Amino acid sequence: MAYARHAHIEVDLAAVAHNVRTLKALTAPGTLFMAVVKADAYGHGAAAVARTALGAGADRLGVATVEEAIDLRGEGISETIHLLSEVPVSAIALVIEHSLIPTVATREFAVALGREATRIDRVVDYHLKVDTGMNRIGVKAEDAAEFARGLKDFPGLRMEGVFTHFATADTPGDWDFEGQVEQYERALEQMRTDGVRPPIVHAANSAATILHPETHYSMVRCGIALYGLHPDKSTYTRVDLRPVMSVHARVSFVKRIGMGDGVSYGLTWRAAAPTTIATLPLGYADGVHRTMSNRMQVLVRGTRCQQVGRICMDQLMFEVPSGLSLTVGDEVVLVGAQGDERIVMDELADAAGTINYELACAFGMRMPRRFL
Ligand SMILES: *Cc1c(COP(=O)(O)O)cnc(C)c1O
Repeated sequence: MAYARHAHIEVDLAAVAHNVRTLKALTAPGTLFMAVVKADAYGHGAAAVARTALGAGADRLGVATVEEAIDLRGEGISETIHLLSEVPVSAIALVIEHSLIPTVATREFAVALGREATRIDRVVDYHLKVDTGMNRIGVKAEDAAEFARGLKDFPGLRMEGVFTHFATADTPGDWDFEGQVEQYERALEQMRTDGVRPPIVHAANSAATILHPETHYSMVRCGIALYGLHPDKSTYTRVDLRPVMSVHARVSFVKRIGMGDGVSYGLTWRAAAPTTIATLPLGYADGVHRTMSNRMQVLVRGTRCQQVGRICMDQLMFEVPSGLSLTVGDEVVLVGAQGDERIVMDELADAAGTINYELACAFGMRMPRRFL
């Protein structure tokens, strides 16, 4: 299968291991490390990344959905898996069956979880999500202590942890970030006063892990940095991460076109002089966003070539510079290094008007993977 098509991504698992060790080295000894492998490990392949991260010292895994967690269990991964969002009440039986750690953000979910656990004579560990200002999910910080007290003696439930999530951890010197930390500290203090002391306290995503050591508490949750991608340009110089994903294709067609001839849907690009156009067998359904049309480059034999015309669903075209003679089957790099040139995910993300997170996920959706 992986060779039936001339477009693929390469996933450098040694780089994943390097990134885990590098990020762990930023934290104090004993700090737990959660490898966030949701969305198929940001497009990199959840099972392989999870195994590599655990082998390199990660303690736990984090995913978004019950399906993602069950897939990992199906791959024989028995380590602790957290569900980072509150899942539907209808999924509670699966959560318990697969020994997943659910997030609790509402009383309805907590009560249903406790009832189901009691019914089958189990005690289920959960982590309470506190909203300190992101306004996504979570119990409001000022209500957190009372909420936790209300569940303290609820049968079938044990609060193993409490966590929050930052909205602006990747913006250096941001006051809203300080505000979230203050809200969190206050909520934790009130909980302690009420005799609620969850063993695990966490808050930091990749950006906070790199930029804000005061928010490491007892566990950090790293996603993007695990993949060698930076949460923000401000972290480039702060930590030595190795990119994990590269995107490759082979030329599928080459032709000469005349002056004034257009290329692709809408003929949005026209040749100013006779030129050579090459085609690649990947497109927006493979993660090469259509918004990058006429705005991105590719590497051939270490030379940058301009992509031209609208990116199609399964194909895209680029102009071959005069002096470069290409044939079908020649290797092209869309993300990664070739010769002395390199195109990083952030360059493409800027061209697409999005972030590296979204591009990595998109590249991982249809293209076959080769693990290095
Ligand atoms: C996705 C996610 C993370 C990881 O964030 P990165 O910025 O990729 O490090 C951490 N915590 C929660 C709750 C998440 O949903």
